[in-house]
Amino acid sequence: MKFLVAGAGLAGLNAAWELVKAGHSVEVFESNDRVGGRCWSETLSNGEVIEHGGEFIDVNDHTIRRLCAEFGLPIVSLGITFDRRWQVDGTIMSSGELAENIRNLTEAAERLVEKQGYRTSLREVAREAYGPDYASLPYCQKLFATTTCDPDKVNGIAIARMFQGHSKGYIEHRGRVMAGNDAVAKEIHRRIGDIVRFNTPIVEITQDDTGVRMTSASGEVFRGDQAVIAVPLPRLQKLIGTVDLPPLMRMAIEGRVMGAAAKLNIVVSGDAPPRGMQAPGAPWWSWSTEANEGYKARGALTVYAGGKATMDTLRLDDGGKYWLEQARRYRTDLNVSDDYILTNWGTNPHTGGAYSMPGLDWEPEQDNVFSQAVGRIAFAGEHTHFASLNGALESGARAAKLLTLI
Ligand SMILES: Cc1cc2nc3c(=O)[nH]c(=O)nc-3n(C[C@H](O)[C@H](O)[C@H](O)COP(=O)(O)OP(=O)(O)OC[C@H]3O[C@@H](n4cnc5c(N)ncnc54)[C@H](O)[C@@H]3O)c2cc1C
Repeated sequence: MKFLVAGAGLAGLNAAWELVKAGHSVEVFESNDRVGGRCWSETLSNGEVIEHGGEFIDVNDHTIRRLCAEFGLPIVSLGITFDRRWQVDGTIMSSGELAENIRNLTEAAERLVEKQGYRTSLREVAREAYGPDYASLPYCQKLFATTTCDPDKVNGIAIARMFQGHSKGYIEHRGRVMAGNDAVAKEIHRRIGDIVRFNTPIVEITQDDTGVRMTSASGEVFRGDQAVIAVPLPRLQKLIGTVDLPPLMRMAIEGRVMGAAAKLNIVVSGDAPPRGMQAPGAPWWSWSTEANEGYKARGALTVYAGGKATMDTLRLDDGGKYWLEQARRYRTDLNVSDDYILTNWGTNPHTGGAYSMPGLDWEPEQDNVFSQAVGRIAFAGEHTHFASLNGALESGARAAKLLTLI
């Protein structure tokens, strides 16, 4: 059996690997000149490994943790709490307060379902949960930044349920792959062999009784028996014009929203402990994480902004200079250098954004639409499962399984 895979991020790679392991012939098409997609690591001038994209590996991200164990890739603790961030006044939310914030959000969401149905925005849920001052509350700032989307355009019920279900009490101790998270992508690539065609964006996909056909931007046509489509949401939204989809699946794809986010990875020095800290009076934050050799911060500070509205306030057009100054002004625990890398996922041509959330028209029935193949095609990618590194990997394995069970 010959399989075609579009996209060599974690989702497409893991699908390809499962298929290769099952003895199939596989070809992968990637628009970029590297594997990994939004899982993309780099080394700063002082030797610290940083992540342009996906960074935090949760305790219950079992698939990526299992793969790292299999590949011999150590995961080290970040030494900071993701959901509880320090404020500049030296306060930090307690675990009990965090649990209460999450509970308030989910209870507000369920009240609003009763009152007005599922078509409820994240902003409406936040206002219901936290009152008129919701936007200045630390948990709400974290929520809006993490979802990366306009809170008026994404579904608050879906998001509240997702965060409650995902956290399940595992709120601390996230980690990162010591060699860089993209070591996972590179290792899968090494194991599947030389089957990835780079700089080959797929622009059309069709299927009929005889097989599937993918066409690249340069007009090359590739044929196979079955296919996995694992390109980011905005690219998928363009590709589905030529594929007959069940109405619910089409709604799930067309109605989902891609968010925007940016990161500034800066060389820093000092003896301060690792710390995730909210910017004063602003919805972005930054973190310095634990050094491999002990309880001291690494020589790297990551500054993160989620959502276009926040990014617009940071004047990213100047290449990150203004944002660097804002970060330096409040991260007085560190010596913040001028040596940095800015990554703006809002303008990334390969992904068309950062990661995605369910849109306003989401309904619970949409959650399982990708657990079926459509003829000879299965879909993978964070937008089909959970917007994380682990979610992408799991979606790839699911797509491979769906097709090989046919
Ligand atoms: C700033 C940021 C922070 C994040 N933080 C975290 C985090 O802390 N923890 C976490 O778990 N996750 C995080 N994520 C999310 C995580 O990185 C993603 O969910 C995951 O990497 C997505 O993998 P994917 O395979 O679905 O998509 P991608 O990695 O985007 O892979 C899709 C691939 O398809 C290629 N492609 C695009 N168009 C075409 C085409 N037409 N034809 C062929 N190929 C194409 C792309 O170049 C890309 O390589 C973050 C993401 C970002 C951007």
